[in-house]
Amino acid sequence: MLRKILIANRGEIAVRIIRACAEMGIRSVAIYADADRHALHVKKADEAHSIGADPVAGYLDIHRIVNLAAQTGCDAIHPGYGFLSENGDFAAACRARGLAFIGPGAEVIRRMGDKTEARLAMQQAGIPVTPGSDGNLDNLDHALAVAATLGYPVMLKATSGGGGRGIRRCDSPEDLSRNYDRVISEATKAFGSAEVFLEKCIIEPRHIEVQILADRHGNTIHLFERDCSIQRRNQKLIEIAPSPQLSAEQRAHIGALAVRAARAVNYENAGTVEFLLDADGEFYFMEMNTRIQVEHTITESITGVDIVEEQIRIAAGLPLRYAQDEIAIRGFALQFRINAEDPKNGFLPSFGRITRYYAPGGPGVRTDSAIYTGYAVPPYYDSMLAKVIVWALTWDDAVARSRRALNDVAVFGIKTTIPYYLQILDSPVFRSGVFNTGFVDANPQLVNYSNKRRPEEIAAVLAVAIAAHTGN
Ligand code: ADP
Ligand code: ADP
Ligand code: MG
Repeated sequence: MLRKILIANRGEIAVRIIRACAEMGIRSVAIYADADRHALHVKKADEAHSIGADPVAGYLDIHRIVNLAAQTGCDAIHPGYGFLSENGDFAAACRARGLAFIGPGAEVIRRMGDKTEARLAMQQAGIPVTPGSDGNLDNLDHALAVAATLGYPVMLKATSGGGGRGIRRCDSPEDLSRNYDRVISEATKAFGSAEVFLEKCIIEPRHIEVQILADRHGNTIHLFERDCSIQRRNQKLIEIAPSPQLSAEQRAHIGALAVRAARAVNYENAGTVEFLLDADGEFYFMEMNTRIQVEHTITESITGVDIVEEQIRIAAGLPLRYAQDEIAIRGFALQFRINAEDPKNGFLPSFGRITRYYAPGGPGVRTDSAIYTGYAVPPYYDSMLAKVIVWALTWDDAVARSRRALNDVAVFGIKTTIPYYLQILDSPVFRSGVFNTGFVDANPQLVNYSNKRRPEEIAAVLAVAIAAHTGN
């Protein structure tokens, strides 16, 4: 078994991994930028080391992190999600230093991180893939020609994209022409790659993804699916396991597809295969995430499997402890991403000191968070501060318990998305359990949606907050 793990991340996921280490008797090493000196992961880890003054650069500094892990006597690195988690060079650098990388091999990360390569690999494995371009687009004319054969609307997507960014729906050739350069420049800035491709826009899509676990000994299993259809701007807000809108046949079908997909690329460790389900009940492969996901928690709630612990065991070379037929679903779980954003003001980011924080509790309620009373939320990072995870035996009970749990939370000093989630929980469509990714846009009455904010406005708010923070 591993003895000491460096966690190359911050926020709630770093805390989550530190907790798994503590339960397994493994020492944990946190890293932190100066802006994170008072962050919870720094307090919770057995050791914490500075990675410099820049708020972000240190978390992305492969050599510095790998050196630090070696110097502090670690035998493994857990990358969490975001940051270096889907960086094949990072996985390779860990292994070159004799450190276990808690995730799949560098080659698989690179191949699946490239969405056009991943589509190709899946097509070869006989997995249905969303119709789209054969590989990346050469130029706008190429894009227009492909779109004409696919038929509008189409999705223009960054090949290296993630986190819901670098995706634009185009309803006409004019729309595509307008967006083409925009998406390229967005992709270059955010992901350091100008590659883009096209997919047919799936109508009334449900986002259904399957959690996979695979060990080094040839065992690959799935832990059933999550429904992440409640999204805003292609970003997940509420996740549900299992999907309340799948039949038993569809559940068995998609689980088997995901296992086949993982086996086809010799996948190892935890991963997620994302699919879109269209109005006719067809599944299409969308992408594979080669890391722990934000919403792994709800799968833990319905299956009882500790996914982070399994990740660590797999990286230590141990075989899976579960056969497929030992994995069963019990009840329903929902996860609410508590973001520091003001839903009544166009989801503008919100920063500052949390003057009071009370985490919800009671039966079936779990909170994974990185905040505490007195914590000052820095403006440099993801707006997600906490996750409230609710479990109950039936869908209706899970919805009722969710409302109780969200009413139970207290976060003073900053705005959060909780009021918005309380509105969603009262929506008859949501409560029916049947909805697609258009839910948020189709229900503008849920927030003051006329109050939309443009990305430039959000950037301006961020710049002011960063200037104020730096001045402190
Ligand atoms: P999940 O797929 O686990 O639901 P998200 O898509 O919300 O997670 O992404 C989790 C975090 O990882 C976010 O902070 C997001 O910005 C970041 N992220 C995801 N993919 C990428 C990527 N390709 N490049 C950079 N950051 C990414
Ligand atoms: P990311 O890497 O940012 O997670 P994905 O490719 O997983 O990007 O897409 C994110 C979301 O965008 C999906 O969950 C879905 O809501 C929407 N989306 C992506 N591709 C399509 C498509 N072809 N048709 C309809 N919606 C799509
Ligand atoms: Mg995705």
